[in-house]
Amino acid sequence: MTGEIDASAAVMGRRNMLGPPGSLNTITPCAACKLLRRRCAEECPFSPYFSPHEPHKFAAVHKVFGASNVSKMLMEVPEPQRADAANSLVFEANVRLRDPVYGCMGAISALQQQVQTLQAELNAVRAEILRYKYREAANTIIASTNAAHSSANSDSNGLEE
Ligand SMILES: [Zn+2]
Repeated sequence: MTGEIDASAAVMGRRNMLGPPGSLNTITPCAACKLLRRRCAEECPFSPYFSPHEPHKFAAVHKVFGASNVSKMLMEVPEPQRADAANSLVFEANVRLRDPVYGCMGAISALQQQVQTLQAELNAVRAEILRYKYREAANTIIASTNAAHSSANSDSNGLEE
């Protein structure tokens, strides 16, 4: 039942994406089928996730993972999560094209390093704030003891006179 609803929703999304209903025979192939020069069938695994308006997305995943692997990876994921999976594959592919050695790991370790540096900086600033607070508290205590002393002195002086 839910499968039927999902399928019809996917078809509706597809129709909306590709133009008004009725023009279904002259549908624009999805980005994947366009690149692979094949007919974009109704049950094309790529069409819900690779719009013909963003051809660079499929080009990147095809270059890095290969179309059949992308299709397999998408099919291994439950349908409601496939759009997210497709987006993360696009992200990974783009990073790997820029950084063929480390890919996403490069971005992750650079950010982890940044987190460590900022954490150390934050700790240093906190320690400095604490030092200022102690110094301020110490000054206040000294000032109040001095004031007490001087008032005690003037009192005793007052008594003596
Ligand atoms: Zn297609």
